[in-house]
Amino acid sequence: MNTFQKLFIWDDAQTKNNLRWYYAVSSNEMPAKYLIAKKVAVEFHHNDDQDSLWKLHEDATSDFLALWQKIKNTSLELSQLEDANQNLMDLNVELVNRMLKKCNFCKWNCKVDRSIVDSNPKAKTGTCQLGEITRVGAYFHHRGEELIYRGSDGSGTIFFTSCNLRCSFCQNGDISKDKYNGNETTSDELAQISVLLRLEGCHNVNYVGGDPIVHLHTIVRAISKLKFFNFDTKMLRNLFKTKSDKFISYPLSKHFGNYKGKFNVPILWNSNFFMSMEAVRILRTIVDVWLPDFKFGNNKCARRLARTPWYFETVAELHKIIYDWGEDFSIRHLIMPNHVECCTKPVLKWIQENTPHALVNIMDQYHPDSFTNPNSPEYNPRYEDLSRFPTQEEIQDSYLYAKELHLNFEAITFENF
Ligand code: SF4
Repeated sequence: MNTFQKLFIWDDAQTKNNLRWYYAVSSNEMPAKYLIAKKVAVEFHHNDDQDSLWKLHEDATSDFLALWQKIKNTSLELSQLEDANQNLMDLNVELVNRMLKKCNFCKWNCKVDRSIVDSNPKAKTGTCQLGEITRVGAYFHHRGEELIYRGSDGSGTIFFTSCNLRCSFCQNGDISKDKYNGNETTSDELAQISVLLRLEGCHNVNYVGGDPIVHLHTIVRAISKLKFFNFDTKMLRNLFKTKSDKFISYPLSKHFGNYKGKFNVPILWNSNFFMSMEAVRILRTIVDVWLPDFKFGNNKCARRLARTPWYFETVAELHKIIYDWGEDFSIRHLIMPNHVECCTKPVLKWIQENTPHALVNIMDQYHPDSFTNPNSPEYNPRYEDLSRFPTQEEIQDSYLYAKELHLNFEAITFENF
């Protein structure tokens, strides 16, 4: 057993049961989904129309799910499958490239051509204001995530610039609000960063932001390129520009991410879940563990605090879908001051009624930030309700309510106590 497998958190049967696939991929007992998707043969041409490609994707996803099931129950080994010249990962890349030209990565469904934005200052942009270029603000071994993700050696977290929500209290505002933060990162470089983090011992690659959905094209392209790289000094020097923990020398070892000779790492999707269904259909064949953030309990608060319409129905529907699909995931909910009755309790109640066995982390670390911080020049008094820390009473009330609902929250919420 390695140090990750020996963590006390896995003694909790519900936690282990909910994250069985993620645990197996992280431990290199199972191949990540992207390795399976590469075995699913598909045949398409770059001039095929988009509807035909989506139909092809639907059929290929059925094949993928059948293979995944057999691999999960050990009736099939990845090595028994032929390599497919043109495969489901290629189709995923083709589809995100098409989507980028009429962007529908997220629920805003802006339909703008992001592929022309970077070279044409007059081109129309969507809510996220991004073109095709992806920027990474920072990446490192994150030791502040839940124990199931940070493990003993950290979660390989990559912070992307910009976001599709506009939360007034954003706790990562420097990254999410400034689209020029960080360094331009190509899909080749992103693949190398992902591999680097895994070979340094990270238990997963954790794509986050802002929100990763606005960079879906770069991320899917990068995942399709994951393999053991021969890093050279020049390449590493360039990649280290945004590596926040570069002062720590982690010895690289293939052993950390090796499934029978293939580079292997669980893909963790750390997101606000304000995504389009098309994006989720693609991610279903790639993401090994989902980490959705369920923030607001109603649309009025979402509109006022994040300037976002259609929040509750969008985010709730996607939680329900991944639950019904039997995906591995855990939900985060941040307790906000003055929002226990209108947000925390409705979110927890919804979880009990719709995804009752889900793992939930009810977080108490809210602090006033961005437009809600009275000490900041950005402070806007219309967010006065969020301008303080939550009280002990609000936090206790939230925990007691979750307990009354019999939610599965204590193991991951209190693992630090
Ligand atoms: S990612 Fe979302 S917000 Fe950005 S352009 Fe696409 S649909 Fe619009």
